[in-house]
Amino acid sequence: MKMSHLFGIYGKICATHPWEVIVSVITLTACFLTMDKPKSSVPTKHVTPCSGCIEEHFVAADVIVMTIIRCLAILYCYHQFRNLQKLGSKYILGFAGLFVVFSSFVFTSAVLNILQIELVDLKDALFFFLLLIDLSKAAKLAQYALTSSNEGEISKNIARGVSVLGPTITLDTIVETLVIGVGTLSGVHRLEILSYFACLSVIVNYIIFMTFYPACLSLMLELGRVTEFYGEEQAHMTNMLLEDNEKSNPAVQRVKLIMSLGLTVVHIHSRWTLNSGTENISTLTNKRINCTEDSSTYGFLMKQFVLSADHIVILILLVTLMIKFIFFESKDNFGDPSIQQKVARDAIVQMKNEIKRQNRTYSSSVEVQTDELDSKDSSTEDLKDAHLGQDMARNLQDCLKIYRNNDAKDLTDEEIIKLVDTKHIPSYNLEKAVKNPIRGVKIRRKITQNLITVPDVFAHLPYENYDYSRVLGACCENVIGYVPVPVGIAGPLLLDDRKFYIPLATTEGCLVASTNRGCRAIEKTGIKSRIVADGMTRGPVVRFPSIVKASEAMLWLKKDENFSTMRDSFNSTSRFAKLQKISTHIAGRYLFIRFVAETGDAMGMNMISKGTEKALNEMQVHFSDMEVLSLSGNICTDKKPAAINWIEGRGKSVVCECVIPSSVVSSVLKTTTSAMVDLNISKNMIGSAVAGSIGGFNAHAANIVTAMFIATGQDAAQNVSSSNCLTIMEPWGDDGDDLYVSCTMPSIEIGTIGGGTVLPAQSACLKMLHVDGPNQDSPGANAKQLARVVCGAVLAGEVSLMAALASGHLVKSHLRYNRSYSSRDAGSFGSSICDR
Ligand code: NAP
Repeated sequence: MKMSHLFGIYGKICATHPWEVIVSVITLTACFLTMDKPKSSVPTKHVTPCSGCIEEHFVAADVIVMTIIRCLAILYCYHQFRNLQKLGSKYILGFAGLFVVFSSFVFTSAVLNILQIELVDLKDALFFFLLLIDLSKAAKLAQYALTSSNEGEISKNIARGVSVLGPTITLDTIVETLVIGVGTLSGVHRLEILSYFACLSVIVNYIIFMTFYPACLSLMLELGRVTEFYGEEQAHMTNMLLEDNEKSNPAVQRVKLIMSLGLTVVHIHSRWTLNSGTENISTLTNKRINCTEDSSTYGFLMKQFVLSADHIVILILLVTLMIKFIFFESKDNFGDPSIQQKVARDAIVQMKNEIKRQNRTYSSSVEVQTDELDSKDSSTEDLKDAHLGQDMARNLQDCLKIYRNNDAKDLTDEEIIKLVDTKHIPSYNLEKAVKNPIRGVKIRRKITQNLITVPDVFAHLPYENYDYSRVLGACCENVIGYVPVPVGIAGPLLLDDRKFYIPLATTEGCLVASTNRGCRAIEKTGIKSRIVADGMTRGPVVRFPSIVKASEAMLWLKKDENFSTMRDSFNSTSRFAKLQKISTHIAGRYLFIRFVAETGDAMGMNMISKGTEKALNEMQVHFSDMEVLSLSGNICTDKKPAAINWIEGRGKSVVCECVIPSSVVSSVLKTTTSAMVDLNISKNMIGSAVAGSIGGFNAHAANIVTAMFIATGQDAAQNVSSSNCLTIMEPWGDDGDDLYVSCTMPSIEIGTIGGGTVLPAQSACLKMLHVDGPNQDSPGANAKQLARVVCGAVLAGEVSLMAALASGHLVKSHLRYNRSYSSRDAGSFGSSICDR
């Protein structure tokens, strides 16, 4: 416990001071490289018997065995990387590669300078090194580091990794060094050299793992902030890091400790014996070699023995490594399928239990209903899920592989959810990931259902039978279905000598009925309408260093030639957006520039934003110290109440009028002209003035505007300005018994192309009005026509509501048609409002 704490502190130091550690390690390595060769050295290969003394079969056997060793070393290294690849992280592979390269470099320099080995012999040493390198530990530390979800966690996680891995690795290193070190005492020359190689490999591995590697990890991940690669890996790694597995068995640790103590005693004793003798290692070795040269029979036997012992040891080592690799390493592996399958199984069991629990309280009828509606696709998925539940869930790695192969459609819903939970698939991207919009929506509903504790929360929120291809990337994100809004019809509305049937999407009872009555009141005389202005607006805010500069810019914009420059720039961004004017409003050193443009059949906010941005770029060429603070400076003004739209207009400015004969006023509207006029003055003029209203000089224009906007796929939030309306009522005719009504709507923000107008249902409503899509012959005519219809329908709605108020029918009608319990009587229309 204490040890791991110390290692934890040490790991933290490495991770928080990466540069210092890396520079120190590199400096030490450089020192090794430039170190003077010591006088006495360990026995080296070049003192092996001269070629003339070696029998040919000795050389041949040596070559064969060394070749096998080299091949195995490469294979072992390859398998280690294959194992790492299974973790599914290119970063871990990269880190492990870095570890190998740098350790090999340090090892090489150590071999050359400490052991005094000739360069030609280095290849044996390197292969030996490759055989002993343990990449799984390097990968584990990298995994700890990659669990960081932010910069602050990196050093913490590396320290945690070092504290978990450090004690085991330290003990392993000691034991390995001491065990292999016994070989250096064997007196068998070649075995001694290989043992020195092996010891050095183990030590270098350990040093690099404990110094350079954690520092380097920390540094690279911190640099990775820019690309956020650790964020991308974090969930994956967290999921895979089974920390408990790292905790070594205390019994094994104790055995290792006792072993290393015993071995230390053996080493001390042996070396003391050697040193106390008169001959050093080299002398002994040389003597032994000479001996073999002198006595032919004994020498031959000795050589056989030396060769066999040497090769046997190497083979034992290889077999041990192989056994370790095959039987033990795979169990330690993070990518171990058995562990992951268990995790996946547990997750699925948990999820299924949760779903079962949630479903228990609800009748299965809803499910049955949903299933019936569901496409074949989803039933196939359910079958797949059921099958999966019975058999074995694919583990995260397999799912990931399938997903990365672009085959996410082959995964079950539960598997996709697993990938979403582990952040491999962003929830917003589900439709694209499974290449099936409806399935994407269905899976998102499942995920959301698990998050929301209300059982069967989506039972009545439909999602099937919808063309999501038009929604995605255009109208809505994170889709979980659609809300069906009832659409009523009012009309015919006689407008400019044409009859229109008005679609109204609303949940306000009476609204459609009331508008319908209004249409009926004007169906004989009809409504005349005119578009008096057409200009969508965008008003950026820019800042200058001083009021002097700001006013210079303001005056610059007012000049015709500069306006032309701005207009050309603006118009170049669209075939239909045409800049009409620019108005400026100064506030200290801030300048608000209101661009007004025709936008054809589109409502035009996207189009005009694009044009404005381009024009501002042009302006910046002339005013380099101009700071564009926002493309929208609220002087546009979009989706907020503002006098500027009311006064200057925005979108389509429409006026319409009609005369209602007194007979109709009394028979259809059940009131009198004087009562209507009187009410209009007191309510819509005086009342609104007293309320300080801006653009609200009407009875309920917003009702009709919003219902039409929803039905025809407009941007519903633009009902704010679009509902600005001034309703005027006057006595008309020779004796003043007829009723003159006009509605002035200066800011109807509307279009027949773009936004929600492309959705099938909304498009159908536009078709009802003969204005769907762009007008090919006269671009802009459809949007203008729609604006006229809105204004005409508003007038019908105004007339009806004002009549209901004037005659005192409002409350009665609403109680009858706007209370949920009244749906029982919905079939019997008898109200004065909706009576035809
Ligand atoms: P849009 O769909 O972005 O642009 C209209 C597109 O239709 C343009 O590509 C235009 O061509 C093309 N088009 C083809 N025939 C046309 C015709 N006869 N008249 C006009 N355009 C025609 O639509 P938008 O109205 O500019 O933007 C509407 C969307 O903006 C809505 O979804 C709304 O919710 C959203 N919105 C955006 C903002 C914002 O600040 N950006 C604010 C509020 C709302 P060109 O490429 O040649 O122009």
